[in-house]
Amino acid sequence: MIEVKNIVKKFNSVKEKVIALDHINLIVKKSEFVLIKGESGSGKSTLLFIMGGMLNPTSGKVIANKKDLFSLSEMERSKYRANEIGFVFQSYHLLPYLNVLENIMLPNQLPEIHIQKEDVYKIADELGIADRLYHKPSQLSAGEKQRVALARALITKPSIILADEPTGNLDEKNTIEVLNYLRSFQKNGGTVVMVTHGNLADTYATRTIQLDKGKLQKS
Ligand code: ADP
Ligand code: MG
Repeated sequence: MIEVKNIVKKFNSVKEKVIALDHINLIVKKSEFVLIKGESGSGKSTLLFIMGGMLNPTSGKVIANKKDLFSLSEMERSKYRANEIGFVFQSYHLLPYLNVLENIMLPNQLPEIHIQKEDVYKIADELGIADRLYHKPSQLSAGEKQRVALARALITKPSIILADEPTGNLDEKNTIEVLNYLRSFQKNGGTVVMVTHGNLADTYATRTIQLDKGKLQKS
């Protein structure tokens, strides 16, 4: 469960102060699949990063799996992120000089993560990329790249997946595949919070919330 309590996030840009999030309150329960929608610049990515403990809010709290994220030490928070969160981005964030196997094993760099190679083979098989393990990202299609990114997010067995427009660069067929993987993660007890623009994900979500200029719209 993730509880977002009265979160405010201000950015100081050169010209003006931007209020990216304006007193956001939200509870996401275990095994929910929550969609976040809203226009570009409405604060979706900022909210996702704060929910994952990757960005500090200006004020407010996030209680995730009973931990008050921003009162933890930096080290404890990074441990929490490593163990509990899988992050997926629109642009995949794969390292171009590493092959697929190495990209999926990247979380091994973190002290608290110990990935077994058998688990990589298993997950690659489930995601249909088992025959791509020795390819470089540049040799993959968009859909394959995103499945590699999903594998890397899932390999640490997180309880929460935070996905920022994960289907933004994908065609309909690949979008539906990614949504199906996210749904099976959720059906197995995982929690998904996903930012999206289109409406292909609507039937996958257990709930949709709308952000408008940093404010949560009542639905
Ligand atoms: P969305 O993901 O909905 O497009 P963002 O969360 O990325 O929106 O951004 C929300 C607002 O905060 C925007 O006005 C954006 O310009 C601003 N913003 C985001 N990150 C920064 C930053 N690092 N510095 C200054 N302003 C930022
Ligand atoms: Mg964004």
